[in-house]
Amino acid sequence: MSEVTLEQIRKTVRQLLRELPSGVDLVAAAKQQTPEKILAAIEGGIKIVGENYVQEAATAFQVIGRRVQWSFIGHLQKNKVKKAVEIFDLIETVDSLELAEEINKRCAAVSKTMPVLIEVNSGREPQKFGVLPEKVEELARVIINLPQLKLSGLMTMGPLEGNPEEARPYFRLTRQLFEELKKLNLPGAELNILSMGMSNSYRVAIEEGATRVRIGTRIFGPRL
Ligand SMILES: *Cc1c(COP(=O)(O)O)cnc(C)c1O
Repeated sequence: MSEVTLEQIRKTVRQLLRELPSGVDLVAAAKQQTPEKILAAIEGGIKIVGENYVQEAATAFQVIGRRVQWSFIGHLQKNKVKKAVEIFDLIETVDSLELAEEINKRCAAVSKTMPVLIEVNSGREPQKFGVLPEKVEELARVIINLPQLKLSGLMTMGPLEGNPEEARPYFRLTRQLFEELKKLNLPGAELNILSMGMSNSYRVAIEEGATRVRIGTRIFGPRL
């Protein structure tokens, strides 16, 4: 398998940025990528880097710093929250009261406000993280009462299918939840991010209302 070159990375990012409608942000999903490759994506125009692992993010962050925004898109373990709060500008994967409270506590210690998304298990898959659709409002009401958190929207993965059309109902459902949440006018919430769609499904996600897509393979090539 031939590796994607830095020039190809820059080129793909430029193409994607031309293709995305205005109002849709592109997150480079950078798990397992070297800082060198992430830098090439930034040269192509990436403004937001998504990371799944706090330790990997720390390594990349040392090299890259605050010239981009850092978005956490993995499953966040409680014992990694302190470090995560130092690095990330947004945590996309809040899916429990305990996690929300831990982020609040660690943010309070460093006087930081953290924008967060609720991760929705839109496919109701038992092995997946995220809250079930009917639990979104309950968690939203918890988050708005935590002073260091700012509820900013929803994120979903959806079931991973070969055919992106099969993801459409899950994106549509998440969009509906997003609209219902907005109608509640929750004090302190600023619901402007709907994060859904990956390399194979981002076009469908955008059609269903995504405001940010998280793309890895398409930019960096297949992970090893
Ligand atoms: C890896 C990952 C992506 C990107 O997936 P690709 O199929 O490589 O584009 C997006 N979101 C999350 C949460 C991921 O872990």
